[in-house]
Amino acid sequence: MKQIHAPIGSIEEVASGMFVMWLEAPEIAGQAKPGKFVMVRCGEETVLRRPLSIHRVDEDSVALLFMVRGKGTDWLAHREPGETLDIFGPMGNGFCIAPRAKNLLLVAGGIGIAPLYYLAEYAIQRKKHVTLLFGAASADCLYPPDFLPDGMKVAIATEDGSAGNKGLVTELLAEHVVIADQVFACGPLPMYRNMAAHKKTLGIEDKPVQISLEMRMGCGTGVCYSCTIRTKAGLKQVCKDGPVFNLDEVFWDEFTRC
Ligand SMILES: Cc1cc2nc3c(=O)[nH]c(=O)nc-3n(C[C@H](O)[C@H](O)[C@H](O)COP(=O)(O)OP(=O)(O)OC[C@H]3O[C@@H](n4cnc5c(N)ncnc54)[C@H](O)[C@@H]3O)c2cc1C
Repeated sequence: MKQIHAPIGSIEEVASGMFVMWLEAPEIAGQAKPGKFVMVRCGEETVLRRPLSIHRVDEDSVALLFMVRGKGTDWLAHREPGETLDIFGPMGNGFCIAPRAKNLLLVAGGIGIAPLYYLAEYAIQRKKHVTLLFGAASADCLYPPDFLPDGMKVAIATEDGSAGNKGLVTELLAEHVVIADQVFACGPLPMYRNMAAHKKTLGIEDKPVQISLEMRMGCGTGVCYSCTIRTKAGLKQVCKDGPVFNLDEVFWDEFTRC
């Protein structure tokens, strides 16, 4: 883990309230892996750093993709190229692609596309067959499909039907999951609850499913225990032991915070 002041190379609003920021961060780029994240200091007014997934890596640079939700991400959205960002990372365990897996199914809900983009690029480079299901409330808050990496199959769902299928992204699962050797998901808590509760209907009952928990964190380094959850393997800290867990490992009924 490195703490650095990373120069901002570019920042662009790619959808409503959704920004991609490229940072020069060779120390982090060199150790990055899909599913890992960085802790970002967001100005003077927010005490705690905010966790953001590594969205892309290009040689010495890393990209973050974030949605403006509150004070921290709003501050980030107002940064300019040439300024520096105080960040540390990469943190967390990251996704794990089984060496024998050939067909990977990725399921992104909303800003959950952030780490899955990187996972898709990483898997395509390793000659895996990738299908990405991604969804959002409506077309204007959907990550632009044209910006997705080439070389994979994509299916889209929006809740209001303004792009792709009308409905939840999880409704696309049953149609695409059959040949998948592994499933990787990132999205909001209700998406995971839905997947855990309807495994049979969604066709994921016998599939290994890894999910990334976007839980609120304090320190991001395993010191404060504020992101502790109970799993079938005991108490786990999302920042240190996660954020990636097996879907079956988490007690979703008692999981209320995110
Ligand atoms: C491992 C990890 C990776 C993440 N990666 C990304 C990413 O790549 N892009 C991205 O946009 N966001 C990501 N998040 C979520 C991001 O950290 C929060 O959106 C951010 O902390 C909000 O900060 P804020 O100051 O803008 O909002 P706050 O003022 O802190 O909160 C504003 C609103 O957002 C909600 N919120 C805050 N934190 C979270 C959270 N962690 N998850 C869900 N809702 C939250 C609050 O409940 C509140 O309603 C990630 C979270 C984790 C744990």
